[in-house]
Amino acid sequence: MVNGCMATSLKEALEARATKDMIPYGGGTDLMIEGKKDISYLFLNQVPEMTQIVMDDEYVRIGGACTFTQVLESDLVPALMKEAVAMIAAPAIRNTGTMAGNIGNGSAKADSVLIDFVADAQLVLGSTNGNRVVPIADFYKGRKELDLGRDELIVEILLPKTGLDNYYYKKVGARNALAISRISFAGVIKIENDTIKDIAIAFGAVADTVLRFKDLEKMMIGKTLEDAKQERKAFVEAYDKAINPTRGRVSAEYRKTVCLNLLNDFLDAKGI
Ligand SMILES: Cc1cc2nc3c(=O)[nH]c(=O)nc-3n(C[C@H](O)[C@H](O)[C@H](O)COP(=O)(O)OP(=O)(O)OC[C@H]3O[C@@H](n4cnc5c(N)ncnc54)[C@H](O)[C@@H]3O)c2cc1C
Repeated sequence: MVNGCMATSLKEALEARATKDMIPYGGGTDLMIEGKKDISYLFLNQVPEMTQIVMDDEYVRIGGACTFTQVLESDLVPALMKEAVAMIAAPAIRNTGTMAGNIGNGSAKADSVLIDFVADAQLVLGSTNGNRVVPIADFYKGRKELDLGRDELIVEILLPKTGLDNYYYKKVGARNALAISRISFAGVIKIENDTIKDIAIAFGAVADTVLRFKDLEKMMIGKTLEDAKQERKAFVEAYDKAINPTRGRVSAEYRKTVCLNLLNDFLDAKGI
């Protein structure tokens, strides 16, 4: 028996979150597997403010309770996010699973979260005390440890609306479709006049949280493509040192090797 409250406005959802002992429920595709009994859920899929995708000057603002199918059908969402979301499970899961649920589950394998990291997405966390905006990398404190207050909801995901066009994305699973990530990789680069203006690289399903090393990215920023090619060996070696994969269903050695292969593929693909 599933108990709970079906919120129909953000105000109602935040008040319920503040005053009742309820677990936020997006699509339930992770929660239902946990199979917990005798708990109450706060259903969010009828909250208008959380089920819309809109654009402002800077961001595509994706409501936390938007399903993956909604993301795929939106003209506003960048292609990189759509490519990753299209790889999630099968249509039935994509019709119910939500963007905030993918984040709230706290897994480093979550496919949309990899893109949030590489895009420097921000989260709008709402409570009856107001909103706070937190960069995605700060939201993940450790394995399943999130910077989410007991009274807060993930209301929106703010995805920068520019800068994500020149990308490389790969999800490595046990099979080509319907697979959870064994390792996932996303790289984004901005090149102007043969000079690297910006670069962002993230690895998923490798450690307790998605990995991104902004200090290492600086090795490439400002370099011409020719200089970047000279730097490439040292760059890859620096990632070799920085990545310390955990052992899961696959060995740490396999994870490290695949990470470096994907990094090399990205650099090849972008002419470095
Ligand atoms: C068969 C199957 C295949 C799957 N394949 C993939 C895959 O390929 N890639 C992938 O990334 N995932 C996959 N998943 C996992 C799951 O579908 C996703 O993580 C999904 O995004 C969860 O969203 P949800 O809305 O169903 O979350 P829920 O189950 O509703 O919630 C998940 C967690 O997030 C919290 N939460 C939900 N909404 C909010 C909110 N607004 N604010 C704060 N906390 C919130 C919940 O309390 C809970 O702790 C798969 C799951 C199944 C069952």
